[in-house]
Amino acid sequence: MGFPTQIEFELARRRARRTAKRYLAWFLERYRRAPFEVIGTEESAALDLDGYEFIGYIDRLDRDDRTGAVTVIDYKTGTIAESAVQYRDDVASFVDFQLPFYYWVRTACGDRVGRLMLVPLKDPRLEVRPIELEVVPLPAPRPSYDAPGGTIGIDELERAKVRMIELARMLSDERIESFPVTSDPEVCTYCAYRDACRNRPQLCEERFAH
Ligand code: SF4
Repeated sequence: MGFPTQIEFELARRRARRTAKRYLAWFLERYRRAPFEVIGTEESAALDLDGYEFIGYIDRLDRDDRTGAVTVIDYKTGTIAESAVQYRDDVASFVDFQLPFYYWVRTACGDRVGRLMLVPLKDPRLEVRPIELEVVPLPAPRPSYDAPGGTIGIDELERAKVRMIELARMLSDERIESFPVTSDPEVCTYCAYRDACRNRPQLCEERFAH
């Protein structure tokens, strides 16, 4: 992506360097705590669900050295859930399907997915503090609302999958004409319809904010 001015380019470069430093510190600290192997980055994820093909890309996959369980990791440069409970609620209310979808993709590939993780990389001033959900057979009690770690039950992931199929069916039957547009312009960054979408929110520039 080009930058309108040299100053904006330089600011973006500095932000990226600060973010990279924080990311690396978090990565190493996590590795020291529980060693893992990165087994995939930018992995394409495709799955046929009841005749509907879904596709995506998984930012990173780690395999725990001790347990062999896989963690599905998604980097976020836009607004994300602020806690594990909030993300779990987003899944339960069918607002977010991304990590449940990746769970099913990797499970179909034979991985034992033990953890889902969102890594916020939006603000270079903040430490990297991921939202982590351990996948459990049955949902465990909810932690406090702002806790970064929590659990999600396989039944909750299953419900998300069923809903994805329902929505795909409704779309193909033309029972859904449109979805409400997002209010977060960052979401549009990688959208395939970006150039054609007349309703997408405009970036109210934070270019000089940091
Ligand atoms: S560009 Fe339009 S369709 Fe794509 S995510 Fe943004 S609002 Fe949605």
